[in-house]
Amino acid sequence: MKLSLAVVVIAFVLYRWYSSLSPVPQPTKIRTHLDQEYDYIVVGAGSSGCVVANRLSEDPENTVAILEAGIDDAAVHDIHVPAMAMGLWINQRITWPYKSVSQENACQSMVNQQCKLPQGKVLGGTGSINCLAYVRGNANDFDRWAEMGARGWSYKDVLPYFMKSETNNNPIYARNGYHGSHGPMVVSDSNTSIVGDMMLSAGKELGYKVGDVNGERQEDTIMRSQATVGRDGSRLHTASAFLRPAQDRGNLHIMTEAHVTKIIFEGKRAKGVQFFNKGQIYQILARKEVILSAGAIGSPQLLMLSGVGPKDDLTPLGIPVLTDLPVGQNLQDHVHVMAPEYTFDVHMELLSSRLDSFMERLEYKLFGSGIKSRPCLQEYVGFYSVGGDGLPEYRDSGQLQHHIGGSLIGETLFGFDMFRESLNIRRDVFQKVYGDAIGQRGMVFFPIVAQPKSRGTLKLVSSNPFDIPAIDPQYLSHPDDLKSLVAGIRIAQKLAGTEVFQKVNTTMRRRVHRDCRDVEFDSDQYWECFVRNMGTTFLHYTSTCKMGAADDDSSVVDPELKVRGLEGIRVIDSSVMPSVVSGNTNAATVMIAEKGSDIIRGIPGRK
Ligand SMILES: Cc1cc2nc3c(=O)[nH]c(=O)nc-3n(C[C@H](O)[C@H](O)[C@H](O)COP(=O)(O)OP(=O)(O)OC[C@H]3O[C@@H](n4cnc5c(N)ncnc54)[C@H](O)[C@@H]3O)c2cc1C
Repeated sequence: MKLSLAVVVIAFVLYRWYSSLSPVPQPTKIRTHLDQEYDYIVVGAGSSGCVVANRLSEDPENTVAILEAGIDDAAVHDIHVPAMAMGLWINQRITWPYKSVSQENACQSMVNQQCKLPQGKVLGGTGSINCLAYVRGNANDFDRWAEMGARGWSYKDVLPYFMKSETNNNPIYARNGYHGSHGPMVVSDSNTSIVGDMMLSAGKELGYKVGDVNGERQEDTIMRSQATVGRDGSRLHTASAFLRPAQDRGNLHIMTEAHVTKIIFEGKRAKGVQFFNKGQIYQILARKEVILSAGAIGSPQLLMLSGVGPKDDLTPLGIPVLTDLPVGQNLQDHVHVMAPEYTFDVHMELLSSRLDSFMERLEYKLFGSGIKSRPCLQEYVGFYSVGGDGLPEYRDSGQLQHHIGGSLIGETLFGFDMFRESLNIRRDVFQKVYGDAIGQRGMVFFPIVAQPKSRGTLKLVSSNPFDIPAIDPQYLSHPDDLKSLVAGIRIAQKLAGTEVFQKVNTTMRRRVHRDCRDVEFDSDQYWECFVRNMGTTFLHYTSTCKMGAADDDSSVVDPELKVRGLEGIRVIDSSVMPSVVSGNTNAATVMIAEKGSDIIRGIPGRK
């Protein structure tokens, strides 16, 4: 009797302990009402806003309010499990319903030739739905920013801010002089499959360096993916790393479901914001500054709604113009294509059958590892310079980034209808191109133009703050971007042709896209046609509130991130990048927020 009671008690304790091992944080402390006035009002609690709110409220003299249109991320379990990321892109509870306008040169196989442009509407912003890859960009990118007029933003100026945020778990990288070890954002090696290792061998065979793409040299370097995943295997976005750790400070107030509809100006000075919450309009005032961290779509939209933007666009919409600035111009994004795909004879279990298995759940709960901790199933990242053959050398363009994903092409990526839906691919095309890949073992490459030359625009369609703006990325409008993507496909083919992959019978799938049947399969013309059809966003929209010299008419903010010609208002997010970095954009956005916060607080540049 005593023994069975002891067994029951132990089982209960173990069950309680097991249940407590959850990656999902406790609900965030959300205010239902705000004060009438704060020193700083931060608009948007995404990748950048959470950092700004944390750093400004470190000073107990400052009072800070942060307003987020979306809900608490702690309310959505899948946000915190990295492998679930792709399902989040179509979760209407936590995303904005953005699509591009119909494209002429890309997105041809998407419904209405419109590419979907998912963006997070939740605490943590797009950092709550992204793939967590940690890639900073090329040192040359930042030196070029400084040359373009963003003084104080060269690589030597920004490197200390990348390091400030970071704790890198890889012991080799942690000691190479380029990484931080005391920051709130944990960066870990991704838990990749054997395919990631094979890819590193393939790269070596072709003479590429296996090393740290965030270290001394990015070009022609390849590495196993690193991601912002915490030690417990949970998503480590800025809501977890920066906002929640600051939520108990009495000088920081957080409000969700607070959609900011307008910036209030008195003359040329920003005095506060107007926002919509649960059916009512409210206003709060800023004693010192309003900081826009609403992202590359939200920040320009809000500026234009408030009369800051191109006069010729605002006047016809009946919006009185406060300052004529090129807001929404210079939209940049990384265009990419999922190609080519290969099958091979590497034995692997089907991941979808394992994802929810008892053993996977147990491993994830106990050790934070296993396939649940693998964001978007990315295996590796590599940067390749392309040039010659009519292609411009890097610094002009021509730098390519590759990821590979899906050790099991059929099921992990293409088998899920949600993947088709998240990219807006037409059902008939999707079925024809990828349908018979379901269940096959293999890999797919993701070549990306790291320095695109195409430029797009973002414009309001009306003065209604709830209307979706017209987003026109003009993907592949510059012919070099198309050539670069085909060059990326050719590099993928070389990697797949190496000994390590040939030993396992790696074979390219020869599914001809039905709109490209008139040209020979695998010719350059074929891939150009394929890219125009299937080429789409790599989800890195930036540069719509470009930073530049204070007297540069093509810029929106100056190097202190102040909106030119106005007072009391700055933009601190991905929209200020003068040009998109050669890499995934989250780390650079966090860096901008770290440096921007120091600028506001008058802290001299870190060395
Ligand atoms: C699907 C996807 C996958 C990605 N994968 C990666 C990756 O693996 N690695 C990487 O480095 N980068 C990745 N990125 C890009 C990266 O996540 C973004 O560049 C970054 O999050 C942008 O940060 P931000 O602060 O500028 O904007 P956001 O993080 O989008 O934050 C803006 C916030 O402002 C809020 N907001 C907007 N308008 C208003 C308003 N009017 N009132 C109140 N709040 C408002 C939004 O709801 C949002 O929470 C990915 C992007 C996407 C879309």
